[in-house]
Amino acid sequence: MSHTDFDIIIIGGGMVGASLAVALGRLPVRVALVEAVAFESGAQPSYDDRTIALSFGSKRIFDGLGVWSRVEARGATAIKRIHISDRGRFGFARLAAADAGVEALGWVVESRALGQALRPALEEVDNLTLLMPATMENIVLAPEQASVHVRQGDGLRSLTARLVVAADGGRSAARERLGIATTRRDYGQSALVTNVTPELPHGNVAYERFTDTGPLALLPMSDNRCAVVWSAAPEQAEALRALDDAAFLARLEERFGSRLGRLRKVGRRGVYPLTRTDVAEIVRERLVLIGNAAHTVHPVAGQGFNLGLRDVAALAEVLSGALRAGEDIGGAAALARYADWRRRDTRAIATFTDTLVSVFSNDLGPLAFARNLGLIGVDLLPPAKRALLRLSMGLSGRLPRLARGLSL
Ligand SMILES: Cc1cc2nc3c(=O)[nH]c(=O)nc-3n(C[C@H](O)[C@H](O)[C@H](O)COP(=O)(O)OP(=O)(O)OC[C@H]3O[C@@H](n4cnc5c(N)ncnc54)[C@H](O)[C@@H]3O)c2cc1C
Repeated sequence: MSHTDFDIIIIGGGMVGASLAVALGRLPVRVALVEAVAFESGAQPSYDDRTIALSFGSKRIFDGLGVWSRVEARGATAIKRIHISDRGRFGFARLAAADAGVEALGWVVESRALGQALRPALEEVDNLTLLMPATMENIVLAPEQASVHVRQGDGLRSLTARLVVAADGGRSAARERLGIATTRRDYGQSALVTNVTPELPHGNVAYERFTDTGPLALLPMSDNRCAVVWSAAPEQAEALRALDDAAFLARLEERFGSRLGRLRKVGRRGVYPLTRTDVAEIVRERLVLIGNAAHTVHPVAGQGFNLGLRDVAALAEVLSGALRAGEDIGGAAALARYADWRRRDTRAIATFTDTLVSVFSNDLGPLAFARNLGLIGVDLLPPAKRALLRLSMGLSGRLPRLARGLSL
């Protein structure tokens, strides 16, 4: 078995792990990135047919990493207004970029385009060794260093480092190998994902509609398409996938209404089961979990990757500080600072997301009435609106330097 030593090994080159590799390119460290599935492969689980709503804060982080111009060039579409409504009821709320004094509240980009933007950025990182396709098979944490066994083709390699970062997604094999306690809660919903082309211009408006089957979002995309994220009971989501195009569009129009005129073309449909994952420890000596490996949430508020990108920015900042102070980057003290920092943001986003899911997936009379009052409250009350804006723009809580538009 061949052997190589690094400062940091990242397991998983999905959108979170790859972003971290680019961020660490700014630090004096030797990094290995181990990714199981090539970016260009149709089987790549991170860079697939999904669309991602990037928050204002995430755009700033990508800007700081020199990735944003590439994301923008691949059709990122600005969200200028968010319109939240309750199907068949009176309440609605409007959030506008103008209210926040910004050019856009967020941007919508295809996951695959994120991969196409991150891939060349990885090529430009001098201190990076990219092992792809290569699969992590085992991790051993010891007081002085961590060892990672990697299968690449027919060969097995042993890598060592001062710190291992697990960014290997919601079903993290690293987490499992190390026996880290995880609580998984099935939301009892799946998300049907596709895109449609409406008759009228989408006008850069993101629509969040709460229906009796679950939340439905239509987000503005390039070429006047709208990304559809439609959460429903798993069997309903499968039934929607199985409909022919005309029947699917008719069902969607019936749920969404006529704001965008007739809905015409529909893209490929995919279904994702939705679970929340909470992880007991996001750090151990020589190990950090980030992105979906550390937390997964319902996509209703479009927060999962945005949260993961703040993990990236915060971790890079903590490691940069540790290096400057001559501290051990995989040691308990530096990693405890990271864990303390991220705990509050993760909890806030999970609670916010779950509140939306439970209140808006419930059609009990008084609850429906209360949520409509809530929506009107958000529409009329400046403090409520400001709080919701800051949260959805990825600007609440203690922000990493990159999310504040500063360099690392
Ligand atoms: C329907 C849907 C819509 C969503 N919409 C949004 C949105 O609008 N906004 C938002 O912010 N978030 C959204 N999300 C969440 C977002 O997709 C995730 O948060 C994001 O993909 C997490 O990225 P990650 O890199 O942590 O994990 P992943 O994307 O799961 O990537 C993990 C990577 O690790 C690799 N890997 C796994 N095991 C190994 C191994 N043993 N060795 C080597 N490599 C390995 C995998 O091949 C993969 O490339 C949505 C999610 C869903 C399901």
